[in-house]
Amino acid sequence: MSNKWVSKQQRALEILIRLKRLYPDAGCTLNYDTPVQLLVATILSAQCTDERVNMVTPELFRRFPDAGAIANADIEVLENLVRSTGFYRNKAKNIRGACRMIANEFGGEVPKQMEKLLKLPGVARKTANVVLANAYGINQGVTVDTHVKRLTQRLGLTEYTDPIRIERDLIRMLPQEDWENWSIRLIYHGRAICQARKPNCQDCELRDLCPTSGNEE
Ligand code: SF4
Repeated sequence: MSNKWVSKQQRALEILIRLKRLYPDAGCTLNYDTPVQLLVATILSAQCTDERVNMVTPELFRRFPDAGAIANADIEVLENLVRSTGFYRNKAKNIRGACRMIANEFGGEVPKQMEKLLKLPGVARKTANVVLANAYGINQGVTVDTHVKRLTQRLGLTEYTDPIRIERDLIRMLPQEDWENWSIRLIYHGRAICQARKPNCQDCELRDLCPTSGNEE
């Protein structure tokens, strides 16, 4: 293992400690009562804020509380309920398709295995990681969304742009029990301080660990 890699890993571990201190109560910001509801909310959160998803899901889950109910829902009704989250036709099709598979092939329960989750329509690794970690406490991978991608790059912890390769780097660097909480806390930091257009490096508590500090426009 090269010195460069070791120092990168040490920096990642120090960043992890600071993130835990900065955001002690960080958790999933989507509202849900069951693993099925978390899966549906996570599919709806693509290209959309969690706040917006949380406005839509109370009525959606009141009318269609579980996989069986969503599996049998009229597609136009679903489309109308999720319309404000954007890409609503695709999302309605995916949540119904995923719930049909869950109802018909997995006994109405969201599967706990990554390979089974990835068979569900609308579910890629990012969604699967979120569901496994938050619904079941299983850390199978690191969720790499747009915030995690941007911050991991800015913090100099990866040279890649492809989320799968970024995830591989993070998996090698971080303890498994911290894979998901790394992502959640980095998302908090991305929203609060290291925003895409204007990172607030002045007030950033990771400044001394960040090679791009002050260099970002
Ligand atoms: S120092 Fe600046 S670029 Fe680095 S993580 Fe903090 S806000 Fe982002």
